[in-house]
Amino acid sequence: MAKQDDRIDKAPGATHSVNIPPDKHVKVLDGQGWVGLVQVMGDETTMVNAARVSFGKFTTRMTERDEVLLKYLIDERHTSPFEHVVFTFIVHCPLFVRSQWHRHRTWSYNEISRRYTEVELAFYEPRHIRGQSDNNRQASVDVLAGATQADATRMIAQANRASREAYEALLQMGVCREQARGVLSQNLMTTFWATVDLGNLLHFLSLRDHAGAQWEIRQYAQALKTLVQPLLPTVAKINGW
Ligand SMILES: Cc1cc2nc3c(=O)[nH]c(=O)nc-3n(C[C@H](O)[C@H](O)[C@H](O)COP(=O)(O)OP(=O)(O)OC[C@H]3O[C@@H](n4cnc5c(N)ncnc54)[C@H](O)[C@@H]3O)c2cc1C
Repeated sequence: MAKQDDRIDKAPGATHSVNIPPDKHVKVLDGQGWVGLVQVMGDETTMVNAARVSFGKFTTRMTERDEVLLKYLIDERHTSPFEHVVFTFIVHCPLFVRSQWHRHRTWSYNEISRRYTEVELAFYEPRHIRGQSDNNRQASVDVLAGATQADATRMIAQANRASREAYEALLQMGVCREQARGVLSQNLMTTFWATVDLGNLLHFLSLRDHAGAQWEIRQYAQALKTLVQPLLPTVAKINGW
């Protein structure tokens, strides 16, 4: 993929599509979605310094002793020093993943609005369809045979197409965007900014990169780990990423 910088006009006042991922991004859902890193404040020394401020001490480079301190903070859930490290991500995902993500109230969000925009509609088309679990009402299982796979894939693509056609027809009739969007399906892709401190990011990852979480949001949680790991290698190692 071309670098974002090659595709954006940097002239003063120029804007570009929010659906172009930043250079630092990880693709998910077979390339239909992605999560990118917009900005980060702080690093591992930030946490060490926040923890040691009570002793009036400050450091600029991590040592082995500092790594032991980080492990102690994580093991003892002494998480307030983690709140000084803050990430902003940009997420391109289906609406149903967005709904699950936005249940995490300790994040700050801003999202593309279908009251303002009617362009760049894209719909998630799962490449692999799962069956319903018999013993867990919110779980899925890998049981669908080839013919059912193909039929279900075709039906989902048709439903996405019908959703787009109804939306565009309503707009053509002069219906306002804020009502027309009601016919857009849960597979519609959306884009949002999400800012979170490290303590709450680790909490999110423990819930969403977990066997109990839906496969789709789990892919995003794993992508977050891929983005964060090079910035926080000790934290990643302690958490077993
Ligand atoms: C596998 C799975 C299935 C789920 N299924 C459903 C479902 O069927 N229906 C549904 O509605 N939700 C569901 N959820 C969402 C879940 O109930 C939580 O809303 C979501 O996981 C966010 O967790 P959280 O509140 O700990 O995180 P955050 O909102 O980020 O909060 C982090 C922590 O801050 C504290 N906190 C935040 N807000 C408050 C508050 N108002 N009062 C007190 N403490 C607060 C809590 O300690 C909380 O753990 C599901 C989540 C998972 C992971």
